[in-house]
Amino acid sequence: MPESLFADAMERLDAALQYVRVSQDAIDRLKSPKASPIVSIPVRMDDGSLKIFPGYRVRHDDTRGPTKGGVRYHPGVCLDEVQSLAFWMTFKCAALNLPFGGAKGGITVDPKTLSRMELERLSRGYIDAIADFIGPDIDIPAPDVYTNPTIMGWMMDRYSIIKRKLVPAVVTGKPTPLGGIVGRQTATATGAFWVVQTVLNKLERLPYETTVAIQGFGNAGGILAELLFKAGYRLVAVSDSQGGIYRKEGLDIPSIRQYKDQNKGVDAAYCQGSVCNILDRETISNEELLTLDVDVLIPAALEKQITAENAEAVKAEIVFEVANGPITSSADAILDRNGIIVVPDILTNAGGVTVSYFEQNRRASYDSTVR
Ligand code: GLU
Repeated sequence: MPESLFADAMERLDAALQYVRVSQDAIDRLKSPKASPIVSIPVRMDDGSLKIFPGYRVRHDDTRGPTKGGVRYHPGVCLDEVQSLAFWMTFKCAALNLPFGGAKGGITVDPKTLSRMELERLSRGYIDAIADFIGPDIDIPAPDVYTNPTIMGWMMDRYSIIKRKLVPAVVTGKPTPLGGIVGRQTATATGAFWVVQTVLNKLERLPYETTVAIQGFGNAGGILAELLFKAGYRLVAVSDSQGGIYRKEGLDIPSIRQYKDQNKGVDAAYCQGSVCNILDRETISNEELLTLDVDVLIPAALEKQITAENAEAVKAEIVFEVANGPITSSADAILDRNGIIVVPDILTNAGGVTVSYFEQNRRASYDSTVR
């Protein structure tokens, strides 16, 4: 795989272009993100010091409508990553026939090290820095890795202060009392659940005969694990950023979720107490989870998890990409050669942006009614 994630995404584009007829003009435009502002966000920390955080908001392509995509808070965020994620959003929105182009944003930060007030100042500072690049008809941010409705509420409020009027449609994924839509928080997982059900139905696989391993236990992976568990699938392994647990007979997902929620800490998913002590389970690493002998593997954390280095060891029959870009292009070729079915991210995780569309659309009509 090329060093850069965006170069890897271009390899995918070239591979896909063998199957469709597209003008060179369109290809050239798809290969060049429309705008990639990089900003510096000064934040006054609780101890009085000033810290500067790098922020990004990439608008990849707006041919189909205002650009759309989440904002990620993660220490690994960089321009290359945000450009790639924005590129994938263009294709995701097109695959679902939503009237949006693709965008993505991010801040290079470990949000777990910030206090709630520092997080609020950072989120408001991000909007101060990018206010000229976003808007309901231009570009509409949303939640992504480690961002949530509260953060979207701060962003909407800050944008409205700058514009001197209430502009709820500037972001989606807001808290419901502020114009958010019921179901947005569970939308990515719910969409993925229906994709899994549909594909497995087609393959005539029954839930209770199907073993599943999920990497990532957050808004996408954690909720999806619970939906699959309730539908009767045998979830044998789950993990979060700290590590994972494995149990051949299947894990009790609702208890693990409850335990993780109560303990807040990420290590709760691999449990050093109560619930997990009852279970006869093994701890495994995130890398081990990817190569387990299961029917279904679901990477639902970050990009570049299945690469040329570990693809040969993947034993699952079907991989559902719930994270954005968890499989590199070189790994894709290996999985294909080994007869492993891959259901791509731009379909599997498109539930989030689809429900964002309903939220934004509803808000837009509300705005025009009150005007
Ligand atoms: N962050 C989500 C994604 O990657 C949702 C984007 C949105 O709702 O705009 O698809």
